[in-house]
Amino acid sequence: MSLLVVGTVAFDDIKTPFGHAEMVIGGAATYIALAASYYTKNINIVSVVGDDFPEAELEDLRKRGVNLDGLQIKEGEKSFFWAGSYHDDMNGRDTLDTQLNVLADFDPVLPESYQTPDYVMLGNLTPAVQMRVLDQLKKRPKLITLDTMNFWMDIAMDELKEVIKRIDVLTINDEEARQLSGEYSLVKAAEVILKMGPRYLIIKKGEHGALLFAEENIFFAPALPLAQVFDPTGAGDTFAGGFMGYLTSTEENSFENLKRAVVYGSAMASFCVEQFSTERLKELNDDMILERMNKFVNLVNFDAQL
Ligand code: AMP
Repeated sequence: MSLLVVGTVAFDDIKTPFGHAEMVIGGAATYIALAASYYTKNINIVSVVGDDFPEAELEDLRKRGVNLDGLQIKEGEKSFFWAGSYHDDMNGRDTLDTQLNVLADFDPVLPESYQTPDYVMLGNLTPAVQMRVLDQLKKRPKLITLDTMNFWMDIAMDELKEVIKRIDVLTINDEEARQLSGEYSLVKAAEVILKMGPRYLIIKKGEHGALLFAEENIFFAPALPLAQVFDPTGAGDTFAGGFMGYLTSTEENSFENLKRAVVYGSAMASFCVEQFSTERLKELNDDMILERMNKFVNLVNFDAQL
């Protein structure tokens, strides 16, 4: 089974109450691919960077089974750059700067070997680019998930709604669900959004976990209570990477399996926030992930005589 990942590969500048990380590695596709690489070694990235992006970082991704044939490197241009600052409670953040750079006129070209993926993760980036990728697929994948953010809702809502019509799973946070649906209640928001096209909706609520909605079903997965959240950047993308990596490795898209995938995604996200940038995600192994999954199971496991 193969997983096609589209998204930014970027530089970030991150301020948290714990410090300031300048020009560190970030980007939605980077986090997604790193998280998914613990579940599948058949990952193809479509993205673009400038010639300022370190080759060592690309080599590290290749070593993890990530194919970069669809990553364009633009000579003389700069990679996508995002700067953000987190509030003291670490839940809220302000975007201080978004420089599209190479992303501004990015035309994704899928190599032949990318055109029949089993699973597709359309990570956060220009909706028109997400659409262009779908247009190049030769067969309908088993599952298409899309992640996006308020930035694109503010400037490209119509294009975004067109892509949303063609996907199976949408992952957004609670504020974005409200913006997209025009409803404050998340249950009502889910009803509206599920009519826009996707079969499933995942609403991420940061330290308060994630909700999975289907037409007749709702599932809730908590976030792991952590003593210290160091840097929440990329948690949403890491969640998506764990979620899609697990689904790709199990090849099963029932609601029951999506529930498990949501918990795997939450487990990966709980690692991501423990250090700045992608640092923590790079040093995991299967035993650490298993141990973390056990913590999730114990967190919600209880006996009730009903
Ligand atoms: P998350 O914390 O999961 O929302 O993801 C943060 C990552 O998304 C950072 O590494 C940024 O490089 C990237 N990012 C920030 N803004 C955008 C945007 N408008 N489009 C695509 N990627 C973005």
